[in-house]
Amino acid sequence: MEILNGKELSEKIKNDIKLEVEQLKAEHKIVPHLAAVLVGDNPASQSYVRNKVRSCEKVGFESTLIRKDESITEEELLDIIQDLNDNDGVDGFIVQLPLPAHIDEQKVTLAISPEKDVDGFHPINFGRMTQGLDCFLPATPYGILKMLEEYQIKTEGQNCVVVGRSNIVGTPMSILLSRKGYPGNATVTLTHSRTRDLSSILKTADIIIAAIGIPNFISSDMTKEGAVIVDVGINRVEDASRKHGYRLVGDVDFDSYMDKSGYITPVPGGVGPMTVTALLLNTLKSAKLKI
Ligand code: NAD
Repeated sequence: MEILNGKELSEKIKNDIKLEVEQLKAEHKIVPHLAAVLVGDNPASQSYVRNKVRSCEKVGFESTLIRKDESITEEELLDIIQDLNDNDGVDGFIVQLPLPAHIDEQKVTLAISPEKDVDGFHPINFGRMTQGLDCFLPATPYGILKMLEEYQIKTEGQNCVVVGRSNIVGTPMSILLSRKGYPGNATVTLTHSRTRDLSSILKTADIIIAAIGIPNFISSDMTKEGAVIVDVGINRVEDASRKHGYRLVGDVDFDSYMDKSGYITPVPGGVGPMTVTALLLNTLKSAKLKI
């Protein structure tokens, strides 16, 4: 298997972003600014947001982290979002999901101005994406497209099976891979928890995007030789030998692909870093609109 190295690729793209930021600063006095809102103390969310802030520093962006206790009311959170919408100094912002159960995530997503929705979750951006119009693409699918492009993975005419139909990964991924253009022009099957006989569908796939959230769910005996396997899953499994008592695994049983042909993304170091990089690209795009 050849590795689709998201970590390495994201470093390369971040270097390009850094150069562009230096130019923006010198020529237009613009420094892209990404803000992140983190509610509660979910360890995975904390780690994702930390990565995002660190990446901002790396490329020369300004970043603001707004941390709020889990007890924050929906109204208070919506007020924070309104302030960020109105703040001309902020080019884009994200509200890290999941949110506590008493807060309606859909309401929050809808409250974010589509012009600052660098996660690409707002229905306006989603709708524009669906029609092939200019928009902020959802960060994870955007990162995956970048990866397929950089590794020159053929998508035209390929059978692509997306597993998982979430609004942030599976569904937009299926739309983007079936659009006209590159990466795209694939024949896409969107599968989910009610799909019958997933194995036989997976066997037809040249490209598989796994976004399920179940550790090691897909293994090499379920897929055909030579397939391109993109593993979106990030699952914590207990591992007493590790410092924190857990390790991260994907939705794909990576080891089962060891002596197979094709391509695979590792977890960690595959789709995760590309998602953060896509967020930076969206923020840069937003900042450049000021010119
Ligand atoms: P989700 O929980 O919203 O959706 C999971 C999807 O999997 C559902 O659509 C469901 O129908 C499908 N599913 C569940 N059981 C199935 C089965 N037995 N067969 C087929 N389909 C099944 O998931 P999500 O938010 O898209 O996240 C999926 C995974 O990706 C999680 O592990 C998450 O942590 C990870 N994730 C990673 C990144 C990244 O940057 N790498 C970004 C977002 C999510």
